[in-house]
Amino acid sequence: MTIASRLPFEIIRDPAAMRARAEDLRRDGRRIAVVPTMGYLHDGHLSLLRAARAAADVVILTIFVNPTQFGPSEDLARYPRDEAGDLAKARPCGVDLAFCPDVAGMYAPGAQTFIEVRELQRPMCGETRPGHFAGVATIVAKLFHLTQPHVAFFGQKDYQQVALIRRMVRDLDFGVEIVACPIVREADGLAMSSRNAYLAADERAQALALSHGLAAADAAFAAGERDVAALIAAARAPLDAAPAVRVDYVELRDADDLTAITTVTGRAVLAIAAFVGKTRLIDNRVLGAKA
Ligand code: AMP
Repeated sequence: MTIASRLPFEIIRDPAAMRARAEDLRRDGRRIAVVPTMGYLHDGHLSLLRAARAAADVVILTIFVNPTQFGPSEDLARYPRDEAGDLAKARPCGVDLAFCPDVAGMYAPGAQTFIEVRELQRPMCGETRPGHFAGVATIVAKLFHLTQPHVAFFGQKDYQQVALIRRMVRDLDFGVEIVACPIVREADGLAMSSRNAYLAADERAQALALSHGLAAADAAFAAGERDVAALIAAARAPLDAAPAVRVDYVELRDADDLTAITTVTGRAVLAIAAFVGKTRLIDNRVLGAKA
């Protein structure tokens, strides 16, 4: 791929125009990468764009705050948005095309078809956020149809989401390669998230309890602990000690299919969701893996 063959940057808002453009790109023999996001980009998102740039001829960034993955009492209306700022950050990472549809374009009146990944959608975030993963699977399927990617990039930060999308792609024969990229963190360890913008200063300090909990459990694991209840207790201690933090869940499950385990014998993922003030944050770590 030479610089000369890079495409001029463009923004597409109309889904039909997006699909037509993607079909043209495929006909021209271009390898397409897509990075789906809800915008308000941070370095975690940009790491996905850079990985996509290295793996494809055309990098498509999608920005869409998807209403169907938010519950009625969640933060859809106040979710942070900054399209101009996002494009200014994304373009130096080598994005060729930004697909920024609106809600009316993506959901026709009376839309009633949803994709459910029956088992993987159930535990962890699925318990607290009923319907969330049907919204996620459906919008990702729609974005795949419209952008026709060969490869798609997601963050390990949303561990259950990647597991679910991999399963959907396999089960429904999408033929899209799914790449999961490592969690990008602030210097002090807090996992980057668009929702970190909601945190007041004291909440921002207490939010470190999530990464501290993961580190505590990983230290116990490194010291030989394999009992799931003991590892979860180690992870919970910093969370329970932070007054602004309310644990939603701390779970340790099989890293591949997210089934429940009682003893760690293979690869296992420790996942935390916690409210810090009113803000719900998530983080995770595969025990014994590089953080
Ligand atoms: P979002 O805009 O929150 O829907 O995230 C869009 C994509 O960026 C998802 O695949 C996320 O997993 C990924 N992402 C979000 N935060 C991070 C992070 N801190 N490190 C790596 N990827 C991330």
